[in-house]
Amino acid sequence: MSMEFHRKLPVPKEIKEAYPLSDTVKAQKVARDAQIADVFTGKSDKFLLIIGPCSADYEESVMDYVNRLARIQEDVKDKILIIPRIYTNKPRTTGDGYKGMIHQPDPNGKPDMLAGLLAIRNLHTRVITETGMTCADEMLYPENYRYLSDLLGYVAIGARSVEDQQHRLTASGIEVPVGMKNPSCGDLSVMLNSIMAAQHSHTFIYRGWEVTSSGNPLAHAILRGSIDNDGKCIPNYHYEDLMKLYDAYAAKGLENIACIVDTNHYNSNKKFDQQVRIAKEVLHSRRQSDNLRNMVKGLMIESYIEDGNQKIGESCYGKSITDPCLGWEKSEKLIYDIANLL
Ligand code: PEP
Ligand code: MN
Repeated sequence: MSMEFHRKLPVPKEIKEAYPLSDTVKAQKVARDAQIADVFTGKSDKFLLIIGPCSADYEESVMDYVNRLARIQEDVKDKILIIPRIYTNKPRTTGDGYKGMIHQPDPNGKPDMLAGLLAIRNLHTRVITETGMTCADEMLYPENYRYLSDLLGYVAIGARSVEDQQHRLTASGIEVPVGMKNPSCGDLSVMLNSIMAAQHSHTFIYRGWEVTSSGNPLAHAILRGSIDNDGKCIPNYHYEDLMKLYDAYAAKGLENIACIVDTNHYNSNKKFDQQVRIAKEVLHSRRQSDNLRNMVKGLMIESYIEDGNQKIGESCYGKSITDPCLGWEKSEKLIYDIANLL
């Protein structure tokens, strides 16, 4: 029972200095941040699609996928703002399995955390450089956030992390919108308390420093369904669920009431193709109530090149090695359908 210390890793500042961003990319990030913030503050009525594979596994297929998204973004830009999902850190229910590019830059190879840190920075940098789009990632490890803080356009706190104090305090110091997922058990108050914590300023220890955060007024909710004690899946994307969230949200007196609906996970019970129906139902619900229309800012969709998922090592190009995803043809159609329904 011990821990072997292999090597001291560079701190985020050192990696940022070694792999700096161009002035063009820096300017694109500032402009994108403003566009995305405007959706959460209500200044813009564009609909967000946070869309992409469950895990960003292989650079080549992820870049292929993101370039396809960039082409559609041009067509739907009047109504939809696409934020590619580039998830480089994966939480695992039992701890086993692929933990993301940060652990294994080669999913078939051994963990290599330094190569992983460089690979995730390189991937996020390539996406903005080639497409102008900043992406969403999950903040699984708060102390690693600053390796990507100059690149990310959106940050999610996962269902397993949302009750954790260090995640909440770190979120309060993040400059882009942070989505707090409902926890695995579905308790909305855990998520709303997390939003409240993130919206306030805190003084705490971060990466060996005493720091004070500003509070993040763009912290908001992500509904992803839940699972009960008998293993039954309980979705929370229906009209009544959204209304319940709106009432609970309003009662808390939080800033910028906002929610993203995750169409996969326990909303679809990982039946990836149900995401199409779920997305359309959410759009229908939005049309029934001004409060819902204002609150539901977008969807999170798990989508990749091929339908479904595969085991690591099966090596089908563009097929998820974690949760099953909607394939490209269906995803492309869904994005155009959403644009028409808005
Ligand atoms: C995910 O988005 O792939 C994920 C693991 O989500 P959750 O935290 O909702 O399980
Ligand atoms: Mn997933």
